[in-house]
Amino acid sequence: EQLANQIAAGEVIERPASVVKELIENAIDAGSTQIDIIIEESGLKKIQIIDNGFGIAPDDVVNAFKRHATSKIHSRDDLFRIRTLGFRGEALPSIASVSEILLMTSTGENQGTSISLKGGKIEEQHAHSMRKGTDITVSNLFFNTPARLKYIKSLQTELANIGDIVNRLAMSHPTIAFKLIHDGNKMLETTGNGDLKQTLAGIYGVAIAKKMLTIHSENLDFSIDGFISLPEVTRASRNYMSIMVNGRYIKNFLLNKAIVEGYRSKLMVGRFPIVAIEIKMDPLLVDVNVHPTKQEVRISKEKELMVLIQEAIHQRLSTEQL
Ligand code: ADP
Ligand code: MG
Repeated sequence: EQLANQIAAGEVIERPASVVKELIENAIDAGSTQIDIIIEESGLKKIQIIDNGFGIAPDDVVNAFKRHATSKIHSRDDLFRIRTLGFRGEALPSIASVSEILLMTSTGENQGTSISLKGGKIEEQHAHSMRKGTDITVSNLFFNTPARLKYIKSLQTELANIGDIVNRLAMSHPTIAFKLIHDGNKMLETTGNGDLKQTLAGIYGVAIAKKMLTIHSENLDFSIDGFISLPEVTRASRNYMSIMVNGRYIKNFLLNKAIVEGYRSKLMVGRFPIVAIEIKMDPLLVDVNVHPTKQEVRISKEKELMVLIQEAIHQRLSTEQL
């Protein structure tokens, strides 16, 4: 069982950012409106996520660390209309198998619970009073898998990956207030007031948000809304182009390409814009189950969507020049 968990961890939990992603997604799935993320040493020493979601009932706490013990799928039918971010019931047991965990949680009804685990084994569990929500700390990640630890890149790279994932989760959930603190420095803070532009200001700073233009376009299949940076505001990385489909952050090489094409010759070689685009479409046109981390997705009528994005950006930038 522990071995199975470690093997699953190898697939889903590659690096500190994977832990951050899974834990934030659990907090989102729990209906939280505020999520604080406190990181030390790029997540290798400590990753703490505090949410104000619905918590875990005392009787369910141990179960949450068992494989495939998701509370989110009740029938085979549910698999076809996944609304929550997590549904495989693998994250907590996988993370637990390669770290030390302290989890405190309460549903706000009766006594909450505190449980600690090391390498997936429960060390201590007792009643604990706290307000409604969950506070989970993952320490000493990969302490028992030295091979994995060796594969970890520089602390800067790992921190950049964490920043990237928190940015995207914050961006795709403007109604949740996020705060990210690394080694005592605040890296991101969003208000959770539902406004995408203000969320972008919380992520990239007010000065950048001011240099972003709204775009909108639609046809029978797709509707797109979002913000694109002026051509003079660019980055040397593609990571600042974010695409959300029906409220979920996705990765799609061709859509990124369409964004860049939309700028035509306005971008210098090797430079990329800062973009956040929300696409609404019939869920039947998206296949989210391509990869376990559910980021790379296939879209039907991709070509048509590419043209729509490209033209919306191109037109918006041409009117800006007038
Ligand atoms: P999944 O998210 O795929 O269901 P996880 O291993 O990530 O599986 O989590 C296992 C279960 O633990 C979840 O189904 C949920 O019931 C519970 N859980 C985990 N984190 C939280 C949280 N922050 N708030 C409430 N419940 C949680
Ligand atoms: Mg999950």
